[in-house]
Amino acid sequence: MRWNLPPDSIPEAWFNVVPHLEQPLQPPLHPATREPVGPADLSPIFPMALIGQEVSTEPWIDIPGEVLDVLRLWRPTPLVRATRLEAALETPARIYYKDESVSPAGSHKPNTAVPQAYYNKQEGVRRLATETGAGQWGSALSFACSILGLECKVYMVRASFNQKPYRRTMIEVWGGEVEASPVDDPSDPGSLGSAISDAVRDAVSREDSHYALGSVLNHVLLHQTVIGLEAKEQLALAGEERPDIVIGSCGGGSNLGGIALPFVPDENVAFLAVEPSSCPTLTEGRFDYDFGDVAGMTPLLAMYTLGHDFKPPPIHAGGLRYHGDSPIISHLVKSGRMKAVAYPQDVVFEAAVKFARVQGTVPAPETSHAIRAVIDAAVAAKDAGEETVILFSYSGHGLLDLSAYADYLSGRL
Ligand SMILES: *Cc1c(COP(=O)(O)O)cnc(C)c1O
Repeated sequence: MRWNLPPDSIPEAWFNVVPHLEQPLQPPLHPATREPVGPADLSPIFPMALIGQEVSTEPWIDIPGEVLDVLRLWRPTPLVRATRLEAALETPARIYYKDESVSPAGSHKPNTAVPQAYYNKQEGVRRLATETGAGQWGSALSFACSILGLECKVYMVRASFNQKPYRRTMIEVWGGEVEASPVDDPSDPGSLGSAISDAVRDAVSREDSHYALGSVLNHVLLHQTVIGLEAKEQLALAGEERPDIVIGSCGGGSNLGGIALPFVPDENVAFLAVEPSSCPTLTEGRFDYDFGDVAGMTPLLAMYTLGHDFKPPPIHAGGLRYHGDSPIISHLVKSGRMKAVAYPQDVVFEAAVKFARVQGTVPAPETSHAIRAVIDAAVAAKDAGEETVILFSYSGHGLLDLSAYADYLSGRL
């Protein structure tokens, strides 16, 4: 029911999907000139090593030893077969999940926070600025900066800053400094797009600082491929040739990319992105060049977008409220290689509670979007009488999201 790998079998290189794509990715464009950005445009906010990874076409990229030493604090993560959920659904499908909730911050996000902090430190940067929505990414980066000896400044979407005190405290426990965003308007509840503007402005205005982004960009998805690489090995130990379908929740695309991309070369594997119907970037957005932030300071990315000024309604899955999506994930959806589906909050929490009552663990609201889709796929397998092998990313635990569960259980969603 549970496959653990020994600490020395952690992957030593990240998997780069770019050489496996049939069409090349469209390059990011400069916000003013609309010409493709060069390394010099990005060097005020990112270290050269990450800029190199962002445009790399090498099939594999070595993971530095110092990064592996930190990842080994919790990796390899377990692969678990959800046999009790299978039994409850009376499905012939076999459901496996990769448990990324065991990291110090409780999600997959430290997988990229650690290498990002490492490469910045290597290039002499002393301080990182970033944004966070509900606090998952801010806490992951604060953890990584603490371990590697960097300062960390987090601009937190004001609505979460006021309503989600515990992730804020976590950031502070690891030594990070938190400020509500937007910084210039205390009456504005804020959005991820405006917090990105605050963090980029901070990073370009200080000599000692760079910016770090928790999802969306190619190098972030690259760092997350340790999830899928480990899962591949663990599925083999479980006696499975391959998953028939890989499912992940999709905010900016990093946990989904992490578990899915290493399987892209295998044509027999299908992929499903799951998003909230209140922020339906892949299912209802347009494919276009758009800014990553509200103020229009970031490069233009070719992606599915709801428009950089889109204000998503306040839902509990804060990590899924982003107007855009990873260019790699957008590319896979546009070409038809990956499918996408959107669910409203109530059926997502219904799935989360069902999962918790049979499997035990309480999933993050973001993760619960994937669980909703997994349950629907398992029921479809039952109707079709097929032994579908389902793999999904258990991207994080929900132990700091209990107020959302309280709202659901008392009918206040
Ligand atoms: C941030 C987050 C997500 C969504 O972000 P992606 O970049 O799409 O992975 C999903 N699950 C959890 C637990 C998160 O913290």
